[in-house]
Amino acid sequence: MTTSKELFARAIQSIPGGVNSPVRAFKSVNSDLLFIRKASGSRIYDCDGAGYIDLVMSWGPLILGHAHPVIVNAVCKAAESGTSFGAPTEKEIELAEMICSMVPGIEKVRLVNSGTEATMSAVRLARGVTGRDKIIKFEGCYHGHGDSFLVKAGSGALTFGEPTSPGVTKGTAQDTLVAAYNDLQSVQALFDRHPDEIACVIVEPVAGNMGVIVPDDGFLPGLRRITEDNGALLVFDEVISGFRISPGGAQEYYSVTPDLTTLGKIIGGGLPVGAYGGKASIMDCLAPDGPVYQAGTLSGNPLAVAAGIAMLDTLKKENPYASLEIKSQKLADGLRNIARNAGVDVCINAVASMMCMFFTKGPVRSYENAVKADTGRFARYHKKMLDQGIYCAPSQFEASFISTAHSGSDLDAILSAARKAMNYF
Ligand SMILES: *Cc1c(COP(=O)(O)O)cnc(C)c1O
Repeated sequence: MTTSKELFARAIQSIPGGVNSPVRAFKSVNSDLLFIRKASGSRIYDCDGAGYIDLVMSWGPLILGHAHPVIVNAVCKAAESGTSFGAPTEKEIELAEMICSMVPGIEKVRLVNSGTEATMSAVRLARGVTGRDKIIKFEGCYHGHGDSFLVKAGSGALTFGEPTSPGVTKGTAQDTLVAAYNDLQSVQALFDRHPDEIACVIVEPVAGNMGVIVPDDGFLPGLRRITEDNGALLVFDEVISGFRISPGGAQEYYSVTPDLTTLGKIIGGGLPVGAYGGKASIMDCLAPDGPVYQAGTLSGNPLAVAAGIAMLDTLKKENPYASLEIKSQKLADGLRNIARNAGVDVCINAVASMMCMFFTKGPVRSYENAVKADTGRFARYHKKMLDQGIYCAPSQFEASFISTAHSGSDLDAILSAARKAMNYF
């Protein structure tokens, strides 16, 4: 058997850093990354012969667990009829109708191939519709790797963003303004300074890329009001929260309807899909009917669409949200008790089936709070959990995801491993 170590040594010869997405590297936890051989239900198996209870779940898509038979069958069946046509199919309409019926803010929807494509396209559409150039994003929110989003707050009196990656031009970064999550005043201040210049505010309604941060009461309604008052669009990036927080995503859970919504992860059922949608009057500004251009050779791909339909159909039939929330609360409460008994400061933010244990006293309501977490402690915890067969995301600032495949005994195993791990602190 070729080991993960050997595969990594081989991978770095032909793939930058040995990985096709940098989050997969175990850099921030100082351990060797694992190459995966297969997965099923709540379990993932590496190339070294070990199995793990998975809390990453492909970073969010697998709310029904790995290799769910309904999804696997749908994909196999679709493949037999052809893998891509470059022409429309009836199944695309079916998936679009399902999305429109489930997500309150979506009247029309366009399918793309990733979350990144969805957010890039939504922002272009917002700019095209409003005739304005600037956007507001929040520090610590992630919207994929589009140039406009790889921006952090400028220093000092500067109100313009600065690139966080070489290759993003200053010009692009200057059109992205950065506000603080859960801080409406920081948003209002940007609108006051840039009247009639801001096309949209884009936000993860539940932040899931700086750990998990839940919106304060009033934050999302406040964004709705401020954007309306200023003629800007509100874009909810629900790539994680869509179909996870509730069947209609965070917008249904918190009863705030955005103008545009971006989706990804769960709607692909583990295949590469993204989508963006919103009011028909806005979506109709897209080509071919409108002037805002966006396209995709493989968009609405039959395999991905089949997986998406199987996923949403199963979620509708099983309605697992209440039981997922109970599991997730059980895990969060258990971890809180274990940490308290071990004398370890943690702040656990959990909503529906996503959670994060920050190694800091908390509360964690913003990026500024989140980065106070003890990443050294997290790295030790991560390693001890891995040694006991629990696969956690290799960064303090990622969410853990519970799926319908996680059983009561899986949760017990996670808690008992955490108890041992925290005894090492
Ligand atoms: C994962 C993610 C994206 C990017 O999606 P990709 O499919 O990785 O391009 C965008 N927004 C949010 C909130 C995400 O979590």
